[in-house]
Amino acid sequence: MGTWQKSDWRNKPRVQMPDYQDQEALHAVEGQLSKYPPLVFAGEARRLREELGAAGRGEAFLLQGGDCAESFDQFSADSIRDTFKVMLQMAMVLTYGAKVPVVKVGRMAGQFAKPRSAATETIDGVELPSYRGDIINDLPFTAEARVPNPQKMLQAYTQAAATLNLLRAFSTGGYADVNSVHQWTLGFTASDKAEKFRDMANRIGDTLDFIKAAGVTPESAHTLRQVEFYTSHEALLLEYEEALCRMDSTSGKWLAGSGHMIWIGDRTRQVDGAHVEFCRGVLNPIGLKCGPSTTSEDLKELMRKLNPNNEMGRLTLIARFGAGKVAEHLPRLIETVKAEGANVVWVCDPMHGNTIKSNTGYKTRQVHTVLAEVQEFFAVHRDHGTIPAGVHFEMTGNDVTECTGGVYAVSEENLSDRYHTACDPRLNATQALELAFMVAEELVS
Ligand code: PEP
Ligand code: MN
Repeated sequence: MGTWQKSDWRNKPRVQMPDYQDQEALHAVEGQLSKYPPLVFAGEARRLREELGAAGRGEAFLLQGGDCAESFDQFSADSIRDTFKVMLQMAMVLTYGAKVPVVKVGRMAGQFAKPRSAATETIDGVELPSYRGDIINDLPFTAEARVPNPQKMLQAYTQAAATLNLLRAFSTGGYADVNSVHQWTLGFTASDKAEKFRDMANRIGDTLDFIKAAGVTPESAHTLRQVEFYTSHEALLLEYEEALCRMDSTSGKWLAGSGHMIWIGDRTRQVDGAHVEFCRGVLNPIGLKCGPSTTSEDLKELMRKLNPNNEMGRLTLIARFGAGKVAEHLPRLIETVKAEGANVVWVCDPMHGNTIKSNTGYKTRQVHTVLAEVQEFFAVHRDHGTIPAGVHFEMTGNDVTECTGGVYAVSEENLSDRYHTACDPRLNATQALELAFMVAEELVS
């Protein structure tokens, strides 16, 4: 990247980032983080880029999912395991539907910083800075809690390292064996409520029986026993990203060492802004959220900046328009990509355009609108002869009640039962799995 420096973003306009008051404390934290090991390695980021390239060509399918925001409070081995577990189930169902390998990428081990629609929040006449995620400040509505504290970056790093360590162990240590994954899925389809997915689950079971009979077993084929699992997050807090940026000794290129894939949010994708400046210089695969306000002109310039060599797999466009709006917005972006001859990976985030407020006062999403956006995304690609390469969900393996609908029919009245998110509402384990079944049905048809 020629003369690009990891600190160049500091000369660009920044939005959605905290103003740290105590610069000395900030510098001390940055110094400390810059001595810590990177969380991921260049070879891994390169491999993910190749796998995303395959997805862009229709030879693989991306499943990206996890919390809206990871939290320090809710950090536990069980919750990491449960999200990993449901992603493996979803991946198996999607593999069956898409008939290609599923690339698994968690919104995990770094997804701590949040863009907000307003810089401050007012409750009962008291105005305080907004909560911006556990890496920046704290959720309680007090003046002390909302002060951005650089020390929190160190805790985020530690939690990300521990999360990634556990994910690596689960991926290769036997937990991801296909037969166990299928047994978990049968547990879900055994319920009468999930009866409509039983047929597909049985067909997957038959396929597993067949390959076993043919002598392909987890003992003989390691891909039946191990998985590749990658991490991703929004690269929002650039002091953290810069401190974990490392030069790859083999290629001389810069790596964002904070996660395998990083993305630019819909609120921070200014062509001449700080976030684009940072992301353009690192070798990792980059995601770019595209919302209703993304113009063809924006996209053209962003593609040139973020993927100057036009490599397939380098840039993933994550469309998030909202159900009912995909046909209005996606075609102009597809036309722009075609006109530029650009290589991109098209992914659907059916969460962020579908957030509503329930009558009971909760920020929520309805499973049926989430599915509708995915279906619209597929339909537009079908019409244009382009490739829908994956899906991006906010989800958890925990049994929360944050989104409504699904086979267990979470209602607006149920939302208060187990509403645990500090940011956006997540699909719970069964809602996420049933969406995978429904997306798989789309892929088969
Ligand atoms: C997110 O992915 O949590 C998010 C804030 O998305 P967007 O930038 O698309 O609004
Ligand atoms: Mn979110």
